[in-house]
Amino acid sequence: MNRILSKRAAELKPSATLAISAKEKELKSQGVDVIGFGAGEPDFPTPSRIREAAKRSLDKGETFYTPVGGTLELRKAIVHRFAEDYGLMYKVENIVVSCGAKHSLYNIFQAVVDPGDEIICLAPYWVSYPEMVALAGGRPVTIETSESRGFEPEIESISDRISPATKAIILNYPSNPTGVMYSRKFLEKLADLIERKDLLVISDEIYDKLLFDDGRYTPFATIPGMKSRTVTVNGVSKTYAMTGFRIGYLAADSMEIVKATTNIQSQSTSNPSSTAQAAAAEALIGPQTEVIEMRNIFERRRDLMVELVNQVPGLSLVTPQGAFYVFVNISYFLGSKGITGSSDFAAYLLENHYVACVPGGPFGSDEHIRLSFATKEDVIIEGMKRIKTACEELNNA
Ligand code: PMP
Ligand code: GLU
Repeated sequence: MNRILSKRAAELKPSATLAISAKEKELKSQGVDVIGFGAGEPDFPTPSRIREAAKRSLDKGETFYTPVGGTLELRKAIVHRFAEDYGLMYKVENIVVSCGAKHSLYNIFQAVVDPGDEIICLAPYWVSYPEMVALAGGRPVTIETSESRGFEPEIESISDRISPATKAIILNYPSNPTGVMYSRKFLEKLADLIERKDLLVISDEIYDKLLFDDGRYTPFATIPGMKSRTVTVNGVSKTYAMTGFRIGYLAADSMEIVKATTNIQSQSTSNPSSTAQAAAAEALIGPQTEVIEMRNIFERRRDLMVELVNQVPGLSLVTPQGAFYVFVNISYFLGSKGITGSSDFAAYLLENHYVACVPGGPFGSDEHIRLSFATKEDVIIEGMKRIKTACEELNNA
């Protein structure tokens, strides 16, 4: 057989974020003193009330298939959270639970994209969006944003790229990798464009609870006229430190999307783990105090990380307003010691100074690296000390 793989599988790139996380964990397990700024996951233990709920569910014998799109208990908990946090009213029928927000996004692209359809991705974007669009046969159309405008896109640059083939736009604020929030004014202007061009919005709101500086979150579905056009994606991974449980969900007014994504799931993974669903229901319905505590710690780490990056001559950043990443501009160092792009820079940090980070290329900018501050303050201090030494070395080269 001279061609084993399908064209789409052969063209698919592996997830750069997961690759770095794996490398970081492997080096640590070998006893290498590596500083991990790669991982996009909270370093806190999952709160005990949530772990206890998982154990209780097992002891009750809830170890069988559940409805494909999630248990009634979990879907009710999701509906409750949308209503309590944002006054967003969904019915349980509008919710589909999947194996992580990543899986929800995958199902959505499979459900709405036909070959040739264009999906707008605002750069810098999360690494998996363009790949998932391409895997569904679509064409990701990336729109650059400027760092000097804090990575907020210009409406004109979006409207200029809308064609008859444009089907949807994917939003993610606060953003992975920049941590940037969009202003209410921008969201309203975007809503107007969406309405005029008759587009669908896929709004990945996985970092909505990790917002700093007393910011208030505006889900895209709460912008007047947008609820019926928006598929909201969220999950428990980041908010409740539950990445390994693999529970994410979508909420959509469109029953066509709900049914199609459920059908896709029924023919692929079936329901997410029954135990993980019980844990997620407790996460969403129980007291939300840990969420605020974890957010406050992330905010202090953000302040520390930003301060330390700004102390390194040659590095610059836009202060993130949420999530747990800084997207650091490294363009000053390109050309030094044979470093031509973000992958070279990241490799230099890892091989010469034992600091793991994710190169910006797979996020749509080869002039940046992403550092995660989902790690302890002493690790941040030591890691930034090493990065400072590395940059000084490059400066003197
Ligand atoms: N969207 C964004 C922007 C993310 O950073 C992540 C990170 N894991 C996900 C979706 C997926 O999260 P999960 O599958 O763990 O729910
Ligand atoms: N979303 C996280 C990150 O960007 C976790 C890894 C992944 O799912 O890609 O690092």
